[in-house]
Amino acid sequence: MPLTSFNKLNEEREANGEARFANPRNAAAGTLRTLDPQVVASRKLDIFVYQLFADGRIPFSKQSEVLAYLGRAGLKVNRNWRHCASILDVIDYCKHWEQKRDSLSYEIDGVVVKVDSIDLQQDMGTTSKFPRWSVAYKFPARQATTQVRNILVQVGRTGALTPVADLEPIRLAGTTISRATLHNEDEIQRLGLKIGDYVLIEKGGDVIPKIVKVIESRRPPQARDFVMPNRCPACSGEVYRPAGEAVWRCSNVACPAKIKESLLHFSSRRAMKIEGLGEALVEQLVDRGLVKDPADLYRLKLEDLLSLERMGPKSASNLLKQIEESKTNELSRVIFGLGIRHVGERTAQILAQHYKSMANLAQASKEELEEVFEIGPVVAESIYRFFSQKENRLVIEKLDQAKVNLEMKVGGRKSARLHGKQFVLTGKLSGMTREEAIQLIESQGGRVTASVSKKTDFVLAGEEAGSKLDRARELGISILDENAFREMLDAS
Ligand SMILES: [Zn+2]
Repeated sequence: MPLTSFNKLNEEREANGEARFANPRNAAAGTLRTLDPQVVASRKLDIFVYQLFADGRIPFSKQSEVLAYLGRAGLKVNRNWRHCASILDVIDYCKHWEQKRDSLSYEIDGVVVKVDSIDLQQDMGTTSKFPRWSVAYKFPARQATTQVRNILVQVGRTGALTPVADLEPIRLAGTTISRATLHNEDEIQRLGLKIGDYVLIEKGGDVIPKIVKVIESRRPPQARDFVMPNRCPACSGEVYRPAGEAVWRCSNVACPAKIKESLLHFSSRRAMKIEGLGEALVEQLVDRGLVKDPADLYRLKLEDLLSLERMGPKSASNLLKQIEESKTNELSRVIFGLGIRHVGERTAQILAQHYKSMANLAQASKEELEEVFEIGPVVAESIYRFFSQKENRLVIEKLDQAKVNLEMKVGGRKSARLHGKQFVLTGKLSGMTREEAIQLIESQGGRVTASVSKKTDFVLAGEEAGSKLDRARELGISILDENAFREMLDAS
């Protein structure tokens, strides 16, 4: 994405209360992901083509011939390339662009060096991830010096208080920079940063830069220490710093800053995917007391939305439609959307597979949670604590009343046979990976736990099975080898 379009897009998004894109690459990828031709057309994306395939093959013997041909064919080809005869030529060319990078209308972070001969490319092949015949020479991150005007404190979804440096605006790598994250209090101490200090900032691939160091020789006499507020800047609630953590948190469950962040998380693309719900809207909904938790979204009426600023009838009914449609989302999305600490998308999927319903998950004891394959004690503790809080139980109840799907859809008769059966895996399987075995069991309604107990129905034992197998024998639990397991799956 050209820098002018990128900067304009970010300004518009900020004005609409939407999150800024971190860099042009994210903006381009995010644009294509909307799958909406009108949005894509409005974003002014551009393209350079550099490869041609015909029937899955490159119909030329050299990369340079491909580029020349594509240009002759009238396609847009980047003219900034050169055929280099030696590695010294390559180094010269990289250095040339390191100097000239700002003269381009788009952002680059390096130069790609490719082997010209297509035959040689094929001989060299690829690693599991990257071609061996193409490497990126990355330019060093760019740095600049500016002054820290102030240190502000933001409150996140988990109530974490994050200090952010408010910088004297400065141009760096094509964008104006006025903020830098400081992560936490310890980071400020590590840097030895005072408000008013001059600092060296560095910008890698992202728009949000980091502070590399304080330039102490330029410290102004009026520079002052930053003091972490002892009250939440959003709600004046008490703040606390859990033992062993670097982060201060707001303790108020009804903190509006927390509510706003948790609504944005709940409606995000990877959770409930209510895309019409941007920052500006969330801000108004919470400030006017219309929404106090994610479940309140399902109680919103058309007239509530129409009373908000910058909300026309069309976008209001669109938003209501999205909210309504989100009710049928998979269980794992709801679990992820709740924003339980340490529960990411993958863990949410594991929990959904294992417990099959929100009600089962909410009743699980800490010990049961720890038994779930891939769930460790910290995560188990966090989940257990989440569901033991009255406020959170109420949210689940309200979601249920609103008819939000809180169950795993178990489809087909195949699922019946393993339904509710508990498996333990031990030893090395030869015909499938452990993950595949777990998936097979879960897809047919079974569960996999970490250790053998009286509740275990089957132990699937591979090569070199150890103490779990002994324990299973002791308890008289059915033991399956891989063949018996496969027969069981086929029969069910
Ligand atoms: Zn607060």
